[in-house]
Amino acid sequence: MKNSVSFYTLGCRLNQAETATLQTTFERNGYRVVDFKAPAEVVVVNTCTVTENGDSDTRKIVNRIRRMNPEAQVALVGCQAQIQREKLLTLPNVRWVVGNARKMDLANIVNETSGDQAPQVITPVIPRSTFTSPVAGIDRDHTRANLKIQDGCDFFCSFCVIPFARGRARSRLFPDLLSEAKQLIAAGHREIVLTGINLGTYRDGNKTLPDVIDALEKLPGLERVRISSIEPTTIPTRLIRRAGENSNLCRHFHIPLQSGSDKILQAMNRRYSVAEFSDFIRQVNDAVPGVCQGTDVMVGFPGETDVHFDQTYSLLSELPLAYFHVFSYSERPWVKSRKLEPKVVPEIIERRSHILRELSARKRYQYLQAHVGTVETVLFEQQKNGYWNGLTDTYIRVKVKTEGNLKNRLLPVRLVEADNQAMIGTLQ
Ligand code: SF4
Repeated sequence: MKNSVSFYTLGCRLNQAETATLQTTFERNGYRVVDFKAPAEVVVVNTCTVTENGDSDTRKIVNRIRRMNPEAQVALVGCQAQIQREKLLTLPNVRWVVGNARKMDLANIVNETSGDQAPQVITPVIPRSTFTSPVAGIDRDHTRANLKIQDGCDFFCSFCVIPFARGRARSRLFPDLLSEAKQLIAAGHREIVLTGINLGTYRDGNKTLPDVIDALEKLPGLERVRISSIEPTTIPTRLIRRAGENSNLCRHFHIPLQSGSDKILQAMNRRYSVAEFSDFIRQVNDAVPGVCQGTDVMVGFPGETDVHFDQTYSLLSELPLAYFHVFSYSERPWVKSRKLEPKVVPEIIERRSHILRELSARKRYQYLQAHVGTVETVLFEQQKNGYWNGLTDTYIRVKVKTEGNLKNRLLPVRLVEADNQAMIGTLQ
């Protein structure tokens, strides 16, 4: 049996949640989990394939592992493993390639591998059924804990490889997610971030996303529940009401837009129009005082002209959004947009991304400026460069200079000035 294991996570918050669970399964199997930079007999990389960069990051990280630790045996798991196994097998020291359906069994798979066995590839079709999680993913490094409640997607946006890499939409059994939430709270987490691919489609029997939030709210010791990202067409009004009611649901919604052009939205197979998205964002803004709304936007989708891009820019300028994540269109295997023309050249994609990133930074700054002088509750996470920093429920990063240990404490802070993308505050 091997003794030490380390982990590296690429990609999204859901991958982070799953890596935390994987770590616990290895610990239960008698492994010592060590820091990624320390020597380990087995190194697990939880891969991402949403963009070409995600793919090349796997190659880079495997090469880095070989340089740092030439004896280590590498396990590549997750999304890229699911759909690009042949490519991954050519990378150095790779002993296991395990797709999404079986990755949570990795500790057992590794234990059962004998010394002279050829590299193992385990990528069966992902089942559609409701799922449970083997153990709670206790993440000791972070104050906020991710709780996976859903996986996969049935929406098939034309640019997105996720329905292929993660399979069709499925939900976690309601009692199972509550049981993990209780363990996370017992381990000291005061904020839970609900994660999934298409969270708004959560359904176990008659339980939907608002039922999950209602149930979590009743658990003693849990101060905050945050929704990581949610598709615009899937947000129940009941959820918005709840965020506006001083509940422990964070006043923070991340709602992907992707484009401000109806024509591009249609080509992307998104399920809403620009007008519907705008109405919704404004409605949330009116219903939830102080709410922070952010979005994802994609530039360079095939056929995106300057006019379409200008529409996106104007829309993002006008809407009450506090920030946006800008993604460059990336051609993925299997997706429908591969066949669409004309492609946008990389230089234009780069320029458009830059313009939107600048706009996002300006909007973020304006949002922070609007909070100068207010008192907000901050959940402190870590000390860095002499400042304790943490987050408000409205996703404002706050830095406070103090001698005390504030880790995992929820304290009122007066926000004094905006400093880059965070705010300097003083304890009240
Ligand atoms: S909603 Fe669209 S972009 Fe999001 S995971 Fe599903 S297919 Fe991909």
